[in-house]
Amino acid sequence: MNDRAAFRVGSGYDIHRLVPERKLMLCCYEVPYERGLLGHSDADAPVHALIDAILGALALGDIGQHFPDTDPAYKGISGRALLKAVLSLPELQGWQIGNLDITIIAQAPKLMPHIMAMRQALADAAGLPIEDVSIKAKTAEKLGPVGAGEAIEAHAAVFMYHA
Ligand code: MG
Repeated sequence: MNDRAAFRVGSGYDIHRLVPERKLMLCCYEVPYERGLLGHSDADAPVHALIDAILGALALGDIGQHFPDTDPAYKGISGRALLKAVLSLPELQGWQIGNLDITIIAQAPKLMPHIMAMRQALADAAGLPIEDVSIKAKTAEKLGPVGAGEAIEAHAAVFMYHA
């Protein structure tokens, strides 16, 4: 690490299919809804996007390289556990998240009533004050598969500094 590399930014993206008989986990928080996201893990798309942003900030590859979805060890794993595993990687030693910003795109359910609870849950999981955790939600204006309610997608940006 040299002085020039003391600050880094990263971005991430994820999408998961919305299906019946699954919990809807978004930002380490269970949003009440009759459907949930399908995946090998708990399919917490915003957390997966955040993990890719963290790994991307340090040019450490992506979530699939570190936690392959073919590995039974990660079956059903929560976004919270994955986030903690990433933050514990030896390569992240000394690095801290400055702030993070997530956008969730979902036609339904309405996420606005859950924003504060999601921010709190994600702040707890990441070990950050809630002021450093931004979560925004919007619809897809009924366009495409997200707009048809077939999937939920998420984008994340993160700023990191070496303490
Ligand atoms: Mg994912």
